[in-house]
Amino acid sequence: MFNYDFPPYRPPNEASSALIRASRGCPWNRCLFCTMYKTLKFQPKSVEETKKDIDTAAKIYKGMKTIFIADSDSLVLKDIDKVISHIKLRFPDAERITSYARAKTLMKLGVDRLKKIKKAGLTRVHIGLESGDKKTLEFMQKGATPEEMIAGGKVAKEAGLEVSFYILIGAGGKNRIKEHAVESARVCNEVNPDFIRLRTLVVQRGSLLEEKMKSGQYKPTSPVEKLEEVKTFIENLDVKKCELASDHFTNNIWLDNAVVYRGVYGILPQDKQDMLDIINQTLKLLSVAEGEILDATILYERGMIHSL
Ligand code: SF4
Repeated sequence: MFNYDFPPYRPPNEASSALIRASRGCPWNRCLFCTMYKTLKFQPKSVEETKKDIDTAAKIYKGMKTIFIADSDSLVLKDIDKVISHIKLRFPDAERITSYARAKTLMKLGVDRLKKIKKAGLTRVHIGLESGDKKTLEFMQKGATPEEMIAGGKVAKEAGLEVSFYILIGAGGKNRIKEHAVESARVCNEVNPDFIRLRTLVVQRGSLLEEKMKSGQYKPTSPVEKLEEVKTFIENLDVKKCELASDHFTNNIWLDNAVVYRGVYGILPQDKQDMLDIINQTLKLLSVAEGEILDATILYERGMIHSL
């Protein structure tokens, strides 16, 4: 019987990866929309403790090619390169080793330190950009400005790491749909990430955002508004060799009981028009629909989705 401390959260595309927990929780932990680590105080793990987990995980995931390091910002750890080197040692077949990272942390680490971390074996960072709109980031208490997001993304790229940006559709609420879409595209254009991943905001029970919503300070967008927002975002993107994915079910839109939209996928810039065509077709379908248009927020409110 194997026993090791693996993380509760990982990006959707790391679902099949070996999961290594180098720290517990989030050193920031203030974002309004996030409930992931609210009951947990950030705890760095010792290198020795994590090495034992890596040794155990290597027995379970023999020959694993992809490894994900958690929790939310483990690159803040002084000895993270030792952890990554041990992952390389125990997973000699690993082709991809990735971690969540806050843009501000990357910015503070700087190119030289990130190059050392890359040399140890890290290949990609998953960054929660959420929005490129200054006011939206401030409202959501993300703890970074758009310019800091750009600086963090750029420094990671300069160090040779792949950058995966997460955009939170709906983050601007009804009042900042356009600003959120246009400014998020601007930040992506400045950094030219390797991946852009869309995830739609669902206001979770018990989140700080729920309080803001109840007091009228945050007004959630409708499924059609979310789709319009994705359209504006993609229209404003000017990136190269960038894979865009909507790899989370929160992006789905239902018409009555049928899923009529599963998000857009493609390589930019060449697939841009195809993605816009899919969105326009869906908007047309929804504009003449007689049924009920639903998204994950509505299903969650009705108790039809329990886990996000
Ligand atoms: S979204 Fe990320 S940075 Fe913000 S509180 Fe959650 S884990 Fe921390």
